Amino acid sequence: TTLAASDFEKLQVLGHGNGGTVYKVREKRTSNIYALKVVHGDSDSDVRRQILREISILRRTDSPHIVKCHGVFEKPCGDIAILMEYMDEGTLDNLIKNQSKNINMNEELIAKIAKQVLQGLDHLHAHKIVHRDIKPSNLLVNKDVIVKISDFGVSKMMCRTLDPCNSYVGTCAYMSPERFDPETYGTGGGNYNGYAADIWSLGLTLLELYMGHFPLLPQGQRPDWATLMCAICFGDRPSLPDSVSEEFRSFIECCLQKDSSKRLSASDLLLHPFVKDVDYSVS
Ligand code: ATP
Ligand code: MG
Repeated sequence: TTLAASDFEKLQVLGHGNGGTVYKVREKRTSNIYALKVVHGDSDSDVRRQILREISILRRTDSPHIVKCHGVFEKPCGDIAILMEYMDEGTLDNLIKNQSKNINMNEELIAKIAKQVLQGLDHLHAHKIVHRDIKPSNLLVNKDVIVKISDFGVSKMMCRTLDPCNSYVGTCAYMSPERFDPETYGTGGGNYNGYAADIWSLGLTLLELYMGHFPLLPQGQRPDWATLMCAICFGDRPSLPDSVSEEFRSFIECCLQKDSSKRLSASDLLLHPFVKDVDYSVS
């Protein structure tokens, strides 16, 4: 069966992104709820390229920790829409902002989140896909605290040729130090490997969940690009409070190694004591 926009009723806007809008929709026939990401037909070619890349990545991935795509359709006006599973708790970013509403952040919960994102990343990396924009607002959660990676707009398929013009993608704040270095990133030179950059971004994301604010800068600071780059490349590793466990401290250190060749891979990190025996399954 082919999908059509008229099969769905828009219930509300869930979010606006770069070039598109995500709606909560109900399928008229089944009453099933989905998220529908729509990119306008008149968007510029970058935006269209991004959504097409996102579609091809969602089609080639199948993991409980990557958002599921149920179909794609194009409206007569040229809009492109992706039908995705609806994640009812929104993003980890919401979770940071409304802490304690339903869910209280603690190490145990962070370990559950870490393990799930690592499983999603391990799957992506095994398929030679680098996400390149891992951050709280691209990780979706549902009521059972199942976490899924979403938003593949700037992801990269490593099997394709490297495109040096396309190297500054993603959100600056979560970018790893090597991504600011033209010698190693995007040019295919040096020992750059894009997979390690996703691990850095995961480390920062988990630290932000714990601290409640972006970890590399004082709370409340809205920095310019240069300040951010200095903090990432030259700043000290963010200090964790004395109260954190040795396992959590060590896990974060493994993710936030400035030298990308010393950072552990997703599959190695899944064996780390902080997450190894964690059970996140729904009880
Ligand atoms: P950005 O450039 O801000 O990252 P984007 O264009 O890449 O945005 P998405 O991140 O895919 O768009 O989606 C924008 C917002 O819509 C998300 O931050 C989230 O709040 C909401 N959203 C996206 N997908 C879903 C989903 N499957 N279930 C629930 N909410 C979703
Ligand atoms: Mg996003």
